[in-house]
Amino acid sequence: MEKAKKARRKTPEPSAVQVRQMQAAVLRKPGGPLRIETLELEGPRDDEVQVRIVASGICHTDIDLMDVMSEPVVLGHEGAGIVEQVGKDVKGVKPGDHLVLSYQSCGLCRECRKGHPTGCAYFGDLNFGFERLDGSNALHRSGVRGHFFGQSSFATCVLATKRNIIKVPKSLPLELLAPLGCGIQTGAGTVMNSLSVRKGQGIAVFGTGAVGLAAVMAARIMGAGPIIGVDINPVRLKLALELGATHVIDNRREDVLARVADIAGKGVDYALEITGDANIYQLAVDILKPQGTVALIANPGGGGALSGGRRSVDIIQGDAVPQKFIPKLIRLYQKGLFPFDRLIKFYDFRDINRAIRDAKNGKTIKPVLRISPAQGNE
Ligand SMILES: [Zn+2]
Ligand SMILES: [Zn+2]
Repeated sequence: MEKAKKARRKTPEPSAVQVRQMQAAVLRKPGGPLRIETLELEGPRDDEVQVRIVASGICHTDIDLMDVMSEPVVLGHEGAGIVEQVGKDVKGVKPGDHLVLSYQSCGLCRECRKGHPTGCAYFGDLNFGFERLDGSNALHRSGVRGHFFGQSSFATCVLATKRNIIKVPKSLPLELLAPLGCGIQTGAGTVMNSLSVRKGQGIAVFGTGAVGLAAVMAARIMGAGPIIGVDINPVRLKLALELGATHVIDNRREDVLARVADIAGKGVDYALEITGDANIYQLAVDILKPQGTVALIANPGGGGALSGGRRSVDIIQGDAVPQKFIPKLIRLYQKGLFPFDRLIKFYDFRDINRAIRDAKNGKTIKPVLRISPAQGNE
């Protein structure tokens, strides 16, 4: 750990620290609720971009962390917004540009230099450390920690870096594009990048929330079949069928093993485990063909008993390089092949606690908060 700290990159210090006020949903005690407060955010350092957040998706990682944080923090990691200010070392973006924000990576370690930022040596520190790599925090004046996934997007204004910003066309609403930065990228990326699912291969998706439905849409694009959605929520299962699943199974009412044997004979090539439930993980393993792969997106820990050359892989962000993958998903959306808009329900920022509740109980698949108007004073 000490060694890692020493190796951390020095972030350029600002010559004179500017501070601006912004609104953010702050978690002050485990379990919440979140309360919108006025905080002081330091201006961007030379390698940072200041972004006015127009909208932010809510992802299950935000919700899971709410129960475990012991210090005041700003969560949110599916932000989309408009560039307000650009540090002098950041090239290729200017005020007024529209951005989607994604996960953070360092850009300097071996994996990052190899073009594989989900393997970044500092992935944990940068995305879950609630500070910059040098230990500083642009919200320290307010006694709150930010920089979650290099953004903390439950806020009207954030700092990001060139590593986690993606320029997007102004012709599409930012509130639509916001959730591409994590959950949808993860689901589609698992199928398209991590597993490289091919035409005619069988795939089962356990958990048809936002990540699972993105995976179903991607599997259809790749020509996979059968595509089997497994969930306990009939509304989601119906949507899975509309978005590309060839079969769905309600695992509370049906025998998954028997149904998969009916549908796919010897089993499927791939299973995605997105529920975080150890029993479901075992089920995902049990329906694989020999040599099949189970992709763990919500890792329940422990192990499914693997045999016959079956393997299990742990997936981070669908191995996506966001600056390439998110524009690709946008192009697929524009062609009508990736209708992720069907997963979204919009909420006003002040209704953030209700949006979280609706996501938790499965009423809403992908809540997106409207945080500030797209057309505003700049
Ligand atoms: Zn790195
Ligand atoms: Zn996420």
